[in-house]
Amino acid sequence: MTDLLSLPLHEARAVVEQWTAERGEPAYRVRQILPRLWERPVRSWDEATDLPASLRTALAERFPFTGLTLGTHQISSDGTQKFLWLLAEGDAIESVLIPEGKRRTLCISSQVGCALGCIFCATGRMGFRRNLSAGEIASQVRELVLRDPVARPTNVVFMGMGEPLLNWPAVDAALSILNHPDGFGIGARHITVSTVGIVPQLAQLAKRREQFRLAISLHAPTPALRLELMPIEKKYGLAEVLAALQQFRRRVTLEYVLIGGRNDAPELADQLAALAAPLGALVNLLPLHPGGAADLTPSSRTRMLAFERRLKARGVEAVLRRSRGLDISAACGQLRVEVLEGGRRKVGAEQHAGVE
Ligand code: SAH
Ligand code: SF4
Repeated sequence: MTDLLSLPLHEARAVVEQWTAERGEPAYRVRQILPRLWERPVRSWDEATDLPASLRTALAERFPFTGLTLGTHQISSDGTQKFLWLLAEGDAIESVLIPEGKRRTLCISSQVGCALGCIFCATGRMGFRRNLSAGEIASQVRELVLRDPVARPTNVVFMGMGEPLLNWPAVDAALSILNHPDGFGIGARHITVSTVGIVPQLAQLAKRREQFRLAISLHAPTPALRLELMPIEKKYGLAEVLAALQQFRRRVTLEYVLIGGRNDAPELADQLAALAAPLGALVNLLPLHPGGAADLTPSSRTRMLAFERRLKARGVEAVLRRSRGLDISAACGQLRVEVLEGGRRKVGAEQHAGVE
């Protein structure tokens, strides 16, 4: 048995070509089989009714689709949808779909949990469980397409659970599946990798010729303050991460979660502007969602607006993001934590919170 969904596209093609040739199938079968992985996916080979029944049976034995099992599906009053996918061994991951005008942005996970322990992050609190395979990463999009082919995501962001650059081989393959015409054909500029800045893998990402967007989770403009929030600062410090951005001949985004009294002072906006301006970076200001360390509180709206204004006054493009899906706790890793802690939402039923 081979999990075709977890193979890089060219390897999946090679495996299918060899297998069909060995069976003495005509060459055009490859062109019927491969689109069923991503372009026009099927849940099981049984559904590929353009293929003879005997071939479907053989495919199901040799290349079964594992797929993701939907645990809960919640819809926020603002239209944000959260999907909790159940994996083997009691693990679960989540994806969040954020509709905005014509855009449908899907926020996907790259790992079960995360080893990096940023103090404000619910996933960080879980610790690291395991890496996702390329198939599990890209299947978060695939499952949505299977549910509703016309409602496919237009944008994908690696901002769910996990640190994508610590699962580079799988993320590398998943990026191709998302972007390539033989995959989902989502434009590279519509795919964003969000990372704390794992320096060696940043170099790998920079080497790819597609212009994937890059978002760096900065959260503090000084090493000392960043270390208080993000233990990874010890290994890949602020200066080294910013220097690594020179390899990207494209505009990067700096992410900054505003935490009341911790990193939202006006002077810090000035220091952040001094870092962002020379890079020509866009600063994404994120209101703190609950789920991280209990003693952290979001910045007040006034402080957030003042922080944004101060950046703009120094010529930095800054956007204060709206909180989305708060009523279904649609931030980094939160549903999983609720389920684990015996929260009020049960796994196993399709649930809807708020209006559809
Ligand atoms: N590990 C990667 C990608 C996943 S986290 C990274 O850290 O970039 C995606 C984004 O969600 C990051 O910018 C992260 O800082 C942010 N985030 C984590 N916890 C949050 C919270 N409690 N409130 C708001 N944003 C949060
Ligand atoms: Fe991991 Fe990102 Fe959460 Fe930090 S913010 S703990 S890197 S998922």
